[in-house]
Parts: sequence; C-alpha cells; structure tokens
Amino acid sequence: MDRPAITETLTTPVLGEYDVIVAGGGASGLIAAVAAARCGARTAVVERAGCLGGTGTSGMVAQWIGLFNGSVRCVGGIGFELTQRVQAAGGSEGFRRYTLAEASANPVTITNFPFNPEVVKIVADEMASEAGVDVYLHSRVVRALVEGRRVQGLVVENVGGRGALRSAMLVDATGDAVVASAAGVPCVGEEPELQHKRQPCTLVFRMSNVDVRTFRAMPREQKRAIALEGLKEGRLAWESLSFCSTPGELDAVCLMSRIHGIDALDPRDLTRAEQTGRQQIKSIVSFLQERVPGFERSLLGGIAERVGIRETRRIVGRHTLTTEDIVGGRRFADAVALGAGPMDLHEAGGTGVDLWMPPAPFEIPLACQLPQEMEGLVVTGRAISATREANGGARHMGTAMCLGHAAGVYAALASRGEASLQEPAPEKVRQVLRNQKALVSSDDAMAAAANDTPIVARAA
Ligand SMILES: Cc1cc2nc3c(=O)[nH]c(=O)nc-3n(C[C@H](O)[C@H](O)[C@H](O)COP(=O)(O)OP(=O)(O)OC[C@H]3O[C@@H](n4cnc5c(N)ncnc54)[C@H](O)[C@@H]3O)c2cc1C
Repeated sequence: MDRPAITETLTTPVLGEYDVIVAGGGASGLIAAVAAARCGARTAVVERAGCLGGTGTSGMVAQWIGLFNGSVRCVGGIGFELTQRVQAAGGSEGFRRYTLAEASANPVTITNFPFNPEVVKIVADEMASEAGVDVYLHSRVVRALVEGRRVQGLVVENVGGRGALRSAMLVDATGDAVVASAAGVPCVGEEPELQHKRQPCTLVFRMSNVDVRTFRAMPREQKRAIALEGLKEGRLAWESLSFCSTPGELDAVCLMSRIHGIDALDPRDLTRAEQTGRQQIKSIVSFLQERVPGFERSLLGGIAERVGIRETRRIVGRHTLTTEDIVGGRRFADAVALGAGPMDLHEAGGTGVDLWMPPAPFEIPLACQLPQEMEGLVVTGRAISATREANGGARHMGTAMCLGHAAGVYAALASRGEASLQEPAPEKVRQVLRNQKALVSSDDAMAAAANDTPIVARAA
C-alpha cells in the first residue's frame, strides 16, 4: 500500500568510534562483545532494553538449553563461563535433567540450566564491564552505515536523540538481522506466504509462591490430562504446562501462552502479540490456581517485558545450515560452534510441537554467519543462515552463545585486518576460540566429554 511520506533532512552527530560494535545484547551479543573485547578490540554493545541477556532476561525465558547433547557438553569458552558465574552468584543451582513440554504428546528429556533472570542481568553487566565493553542500553539501532559494499557503523536512537557509532566491524546480534537487512544483505523469513506458517510467539510470566516439588512429583499422565482439560475448556493456550523454576523452587517461570499469526517485524502485530498474550495469561493464571496441584496458593509475580519471538528473518549466508547437515553429522573445515538441539518447531496455528533430539552435537560453520557479499559484518544468534527447520535446532541460547563467541573473535580479528570476507581465516578464528576454551568441533566435544567431571545434577 502506498502511504503519504514526509522528507526529513537529518544531521547525525558521531558519538563514538570502535573496532567492533555489537548490535543487540542478548545471549549471543553479550558473549560476542565480551569475546571481541578480550581479543583487544575497542568494543561497544547497543541494546534497546534496559539490561543485557535478551530473551533470557527481558523475555524471561529462564533456562539455557543447547549446552548439552545427551551427556556431551557442546558449549565451552565464555558461554560456559557465564553459566559458572551465574551459579556462583546464586542465580542457579546448575545443570539438571529436564523434560521439555512434559504434558504434550511428545516430550523430550534434555539438560537445562534454569536461572533467575535478575541475577543474569547483574552478572552480564559485570562481565561486560570487566572486559571493558562500552554498553549502550535503552538504545535502538535504526540504520546501518554502509559505504560501497562495506558496513561502517550504525545509527542509534535513544533518550539523548539520534547518533552514529562508527566501527571497523559490526556484529548483528539482534535476532532479527536488523543491521544485515538494513544494509541490504539478502534475508529470508519475510515472504508473504509465511504469514500463517510462522511459529507462535509466547509471552512468559512468573508465578510466585508455587509448590514446585508437588507439581513435579505428579505423574506425566495426570499433567497431560489436566492440560487437555484446560485446552478443551479454552482456558489454556496449548497442551503443555511448561515452566522452569528458579533457585528455591518457589517460582514457576511459565512458557504457557501461545500467540499465533504474528509477524514480529510488524509493529501492529507485535502490539497484538503483547495484548493477546496478557489476556491469555489472565486465563491461564486462574486455571493454574484453581486446577493445578502446586499452584493453589500461587500469585502472578510478573510478566516479561517483551513477548518471546521464535522466528523472523535470517540472512542468506555463504552456507545455509540444513537438517541434513545436523542429522548427518556433517563436518565443516570452518566449524566454529556446536549445536546440541533439541530440534524444536512449534506448530503454527495449532497446539503441537515438533520436538526431537539430534543424534549428536552438530557443527556450525563460520560460513553460516557471513553474508555473501557485504564486508564489515558478521551475524550471530537466531538470524544466522539456516533453513527454518535447522534454525529450530540452532536457535537455543546455548548455541547462540557459541555463535556469539565465534562472531566476537572473528570481528576482532577482521577489525585489525587478520580476517576478511574474502579470506575469513577460519583456522585462526578456531585457534583463538580454542585458546579461550571454546568447543568448535565434534572432536572438541568428545574430548571434553572424556575429561569433564559430571556436572548434571538431578531432574528438575
Ligand atoms: C518463547 C520462547 C521460548 C524459548 N525457550 C528457550 C529455552 O527454554 N531455552 C533456550 O535456550 N532458548 C529458548 N528459546 C530460544 C532463544 O531464547 C532465542 O532463540 C535466543 O535468545 C536467541 O539468541 P539471540 O542472542 O540471537 O537473540 P536474543 O536473546 O533475543 O537477543 C537479541 C537482542 O537484540 C536486541 N535488539 C533487537 N533489535 C534491536 C535493535 N534494533 N536495537 C538494539 N537492540 C536490539 C533485543 O532487545 C535482544 O536483547 C526460546 C525462545 C522463545 C521465543
């Protein structure tokens, strides 16, 4: 639809010059920024929320998964360090066995790392500050600065107005490929035919004063029967009673709302997602309190600041990760990160979820993070180059952390001319990552598994 337009002439002050700027400070962006700074790059991270941590903090998705495939650890380096620091700060009791979507038709038992998002916010601040990262919170990236075929920085808007930040390298960690798309990098995910195929959004909420142990002790069949009743009565939004619990087991962080037909790149849809999510929460809360053992005395303790988005756009990079790559255990000479799974696609328009574990850790090459032509840019997290199905297994926060580590190292090297789009120098990137204890290949994961002392505790 053609809309009337106005023409603006803008003069934008340059607020800073960096070697590396990371757009988006979520699971991936936080680790990317710390990694780049630890490699000696003058680094900034720009985040629209008031905290770092992304979907794990402002989205309140309070468990990191994708760190273990079976008993094999897939995340080392700065991502693993983050888990240890959160645990040391009292924000988690560590890794546990956990059954995802337990009340659904096909649950999967995995290893998770449940945490208190408020502690993660604090630890994330500390890690960024110790590494010397300049953090810009409450700052939205609105434009990429592109000259020729090279990204040179970005424009941000915040309470101080509008400003430009220049950099030798940019890491797009927005999850939505905001910078890549603005710079003209080809992306998928916005096609009109996907309108009713995108995975649903979920607005997460926290119930306080829950007797988590009573709920967990219930047999799965009983949980499923209750969930199906709730669905039939129109009081639950899908067939799962999924929640994770923070230390102390008094809180349930509930992933129970399900909002369909949302294009999360459309602000009207996003508004609808938040408002519909809150109406669903109203209904779910009363159902939990009335009908679910363990929730009798519970109270609504909070709603995430932002609706959780599973799917928007992804870049078309130098390699597109596929399910065949994952299931076939394809080896890549430029592997820089490991995925663990589970493969996790929520049914569009319905109540089901396609959930299964890949047979082994899978390698993700640097080529999935690099655009085909645009210099100065590396993409990380949910927006890397992958098919929809493969993305379902590569979008978990553990995997986002490994990818962030790789993106940060690559960006730091590229900012001083030691890597480039034409010569990405994957061996050098892998060497630096390994020096920083990252696991970059299946062999690394197997070697770590042989040496690791068991760290996965009891079932949650
Ligand atoms: C409902 C739901 C449940 C999930 N469950 C789990 C789970 O249990 N465990 C798990 O590990 N993963 C889970 N995931 C997947 C996971 O949370 C995401 O895929 C993951 O967070 C991706 O990491 P990321 O760093 O790419 O994105 P994010 O963590 O979303 O971070 C992106 C960051 O970029 C910022 N940003 C975006 N645009 C701009 C802009 N223009 N300017 C400035 N900043 C910007 C955002 O504010 C955000 O902080 C779930 C996802 C959803 C939606």
